[in-house]
Amino acid sequence: MRKPIIVANWKMNFLRDQADLFLQKLLARLGHNQTVEVGIAAQDLFLPDLIKIADDSPISIVAQNAHWENFGAFTGETSPKALANIGVDYVMLGHFERRELFNETNSTVNLKVRTALNDGLDVIVDVEEMEQVEPVLEGITEEQMKGIIIGFEPTFAIGTGMSASTKGAQDVAQQIRKTVRRLYGAPTAQAIRILYGGSVDRDNLADLIAQPDIDGSLVGRASLDFQTFWELVKIM
Ligand code: 13P
Repeated sequence: MRKPIIVANWKMNFLRDQADLFLQKLLARLGHNQTVEVGIAAQDLFLPDLIKIADDSPISIVAQNAHWENFGAFTGETSPKALANIGVDYVMLGHFERRELFNETNSTVNLKVRTALNDGLDVIVDVEEMEQVEPVLEGITEEQMKGIIIGFEPTFAIGTGMSASTKGAQDVAQQIRKTVRRLYGAPTAQAIRILYGGSVDRDNLADLIAQPDIDGSLVGRASLDFQTFWELVKIM
């Protein structure tokens, strides 16, 4: 069966010591719990520390973006190969804020997905609507799909306090799974994890993850307070 996963998307928050302390506390509480996967998506600067702290634990360390080339004259960008090289587990690609504020498109997201997978990084590819699923997966093989998680984060729900309805989120997750089935067949569709993100909190998480096609969640604001995030992990 698909292992549930909850990902804290810290976005551009915290300073180094806060990030380290948060993860240390999380590890102490989580122990060797293997029933849920917990991911921490942090800004690049914190990743080496977090990888060291999370070493040998069930916590996955997630980068929030990467370029589509591994090396070259791309001032200010982060190489996916360099992320894989330091031990990052996943890279998140195509988040709404990347599209909205930094002009990313389906085609740049697709380029990034391809390069990251080739470099051995698993990918959490974010879509805001069903129509983005096919373009961001273009050229990805059935074998490579084993390294993909799809995050569905509707624009209206990100950072607004207005989550999608449980039924609405389930309907889209089901559609996404159907699309994956059409493109890659039933075993891949059965295996792929689909996450919901957008104003997830203590009041809505239980219902959301009870849905048959929702395998976990991406959490923004509610992941910034340790106690709140820990309560969400327990709900998973
Ligand atoms: P909020 O949980 O703050 O709505 O953010 C969601 C998000 O962007 C997770 O990737």
